Parts: sequence; C-alpha cells; structure tokens
Amino acid sequence: MRAIDLSGKTALVLGVANKRSLAWAIAEALGEAGAQLTFTYQGERLAKNVENLSKQFPKAPVMACDVTSDEQVDGVFSRIDREFGKLDILVHSIAYARKQELEGHFIKTSLQGWRIALEISAYSLVKLADRAAPLMKRAGGGSILAMTYLASQRVVPKYNVMGAAKAALEHGVRQLASELGPSNIRVNAISAGPVSTLSARGISGFTGMASHHRRHAPLRRDIERQEVGDAALFLSSDLASGITGEILFVDAGYNIMAI
Ligand code: NAP
Repeated sequence: MRAIDLSGKTALVLGVANKRSLAWAIAEALGEAGAQLTFTYQGERLAKNVENLSKQFPKAPVMACDVTSDEQVDGVFSRIDREFGKLDILVHSIAYARKQELEGHFIKTSLQGWRIALEISAYSLVKLADRAAPLMKRAGGGSILAMTYLASQRVVPKYNVMGAAKAALEHGVRQLASELGPSNIRVNAISAGPVSTLSARGISGFTGMASHHRRHAPLRRDIERQEVGDAALFLSSDLASGITGEILFVDAGYNIMAI
C-alpha cells in the first residue's frame, strides 16, 4: 500500500474555528502526513482557539485573515512567501451568511445579505486562488480545495442564500481549474454531508436535516469529520494528480437518492 507523504509540502488552511471545524479535520490529516501547515483565524474572538489547537503542529504560523480584507489576505501570502518561498496546498473551508437570511424564505433575501454571503463564501475562493497561484507556480503546481454542500444543486429548506453561494463556489472551482490547469494547479471541492459545527448549527432546522440524511443515505449514518480529512488528504496529494475541477461527495451516498 502507498502511504501519502506530504513532507516538504506547505499548506495554508483557512476556516478553523474550533476542533469541530471541518478545516481542523483536514489540517490534522495534512499535518499528520507531514505537511508544513499555516493557519488563519477571523477576528480576535477565535484567535485563542486556533492558537491553542495549532500547538499540535508547533512550527505552524497562525495569522489573522478576514477574507473581506485585502490587507489581511495579502499579509498572509507575503508571510508564506517570506517563510517558505512557495505554497503547495490551499484549503478554503469558509462560509458565512447573516442569520436572518438562513431563517425565513429565500424570496426575502436582501441584496446586502446576498452580497455578504456570496463575497465571503464564494468570491473569496477566487481572491485566494489569485494570491496563491504565483506561489504554487514556484512549487511546480499545487492543489486548491474548497468545501461545498448539495444545496448548490437541490433545494434544501432554510439553506437559502447559502445554496446560491455554494452554486457560485462550485462554478468557481471549475473555472479556476480550467485557468490554472496549465500551471499544474488543481482545483477541487468536497461536498460534505451534514456535520455538527459552529456554522452548521447556525442553519435553522439543521438537526432535522441531519437526521433525514442519516435515515436515507445509503450508508445509513452520519459522516465522520475524519472522512472529510481523509478525502482532502487524497485530493491534496499526488494520488489525485489527474483530478481537477471535480466535486467529490463525502456524504455516505446521500446525493444519489431521490428522497
Ligand atoms: P465552521 O467550523 O464554523 O467553519 C467556518 C469557518 O468560516 C469559520 O472558521 C469562520 O470563522 C470562517 N469565516 C466566516 N467568515 C469569514 C471571513 N470573513 N473570513 C475568514 N473566515 C471566515 O464550520 P464548518 O462546518 O467546518 O464549515 C467549513 C466549510 O464546510 C464551509 O464552507 C461550509 O459551508 C462547508 N460545509 C459544511 C458542512 C457541515 O455540515 N458542517 C457540510 C457541507 C459543507 P468565524 O467563526 O470567525 O466566523
């Protein structure tokens, strides 16, 4: 069996809020495979959480990065350039919509709510890919990975504007894969089944959604965070060297069902 070895690779992971975050499961998988990690957090509220978790990987820099701030985004990539001179792996595990947009009806989505959700959850991938590409070209190629959800294609009650954001994000994955492929930079997304995290619990009706998923998914269970980490490890590694522009479902098979 070929083990995945990421020693010598540098990885930037955005979206760790706490140990329940899918980004943390991905970071653990990449870090245990030997990747040099860099973490970011959004806002001082979460800084301590991320700093404490990152101690598991003692040489991992931790930086503030609100993706709506060009200054902070540029600061992250300048530091990676100074410290490592290149970037091999970028993990985008970020989403946000205002609470009021996730409670009522989609038809009531405000323009401001739409802009905020789409900027943070989808446009940020484009911005980060633009900043990452020169550092990845220096590495001879790279892997960019985003996190998405089935509501990009189907109607999931209360997911509302976040469904539009995920549709835009998935289009971004394909368009970026096409533009960056000639530089050997692959761009993919994982479409995960419901996992109880800070963001997921912000969606009203999340518990009911998760239990419907558990009852109807072919595997008849929730997915484990670690299964997302494992899939991310595969997609970030040379074992996936021929895969780009792909949305990989890690959802116990739920997406194939018509109920
Ligand atoms: P999470 O732990 O709450 O992670 C979401 C992250 O996004 C948080 O670290 C959050 O930071 C960050 N974020 C929000 N606004 C930001 C901004 N302006 N700049 C930078 N970071 C920002 O929840 P999660 O479930 O792991 O979500 C990770 C990704 O997986 C998301 O794209 C989500 O849509 C996707 N996903 C989740 C599920 C699920 O069931 N959990 C299923 C499919 C896909 P703050 O907490 O500071 O805002």
